[in-house]
Amino acid sequence: MSESEVRLMALDLEMDESRGGLLCPFCHGGQHGDKSFAMTRIGSGILYHCFRAKCTKGGLIPSTYGIQQTVRKKKSPKIFTKATRLLSGSEEHFLFDKYELLPKANHTYKYCDEMDRLVVPILGIHLHQLGIAVKDEFNKHPSQPKWIFYWEKPMEPKVHLRLTNERYVVVCEDIISADKLWTYDIPAIALLGTHLSEDNTVYLRKLGITKLYLALDPDAKDKMHKIKGKYSLLFDEIKMMFLDKDVKDTPISTIKEILDGTQTTVSNNTE
Ligand SMILES: [Zn+2]
Repeated sequence: MSESEVRLMALDLEMDESRGGLLCPFCHGGQHGDKSFAMTRIGSGILYHCFRAKCTKGGLIPSTYGIQQTVRKKKSPKIFTKATRLLSGSEEHFLFDKYELLPKANHTYKYCDEMDRLVVPILGIHLHQLGIAVKDEFNKHPSQPKWIFYWEKPMEPKVHLRLTNERYVVVCEDIISADKLWTYDIPAIALLGTHLSEDNTVYLRKLGITKLYLALDPDAKDKMHKIKGKYSLLFDEIKMMFLDKDVKDTPISTIKEILDGTQTTVSNNTE
């Protein structure tokens, strides 16, 4: 009556195939036999979730027992140790103006003069700092990566969380985009790229998130379709926001209109 049963139920699923409307092997659908169980076969195993409010069992069953621990090598963390300073008033003003950040994020960012980069904290649950990202904000090092990441510990989820009490979250690529939304009390997560991993999906479900708004950069439309296809049965809803620019460069008014559902389609709106 457990994970082994889920494995049996998933036996005939193709890779990345999903199935919903199943009877949950954990709660058996309660008194009414609700068929609220869904699962998806993915590369590293089977993702499953029960949508019954009294159950909400869910997780990831690795495809082969015992393999995961040995495959995931514990790399020693790359820790950021360089000296930083607070931003000057004018630097902070410039930055906040550029990205429409509200004062709620004052003193969040620092500067590393030695690297000539903006220093941005990567936060986990309860604002616990997971690492540091340094950004070439002023294009001082065009031949180097725009963002460089440093991690305090190697095994924690490598995403940046800016959650509120809401049950939805806006999925962004970069940290400043997520911070921007958070200053407007909009919950956000930054993937630090375009990949929403299975582990992080389970993590979001466990944090009570039931709805995703995908707001990846304009060049990641295919990625958004993939994420929606792969995880659609594990959330009540996954909506794609097709922005012309990334979130931090999109007017907050536009984003709010999309979230409120008041945004009318810009092109071919004949009604
Ligand atoms: Zn259940």
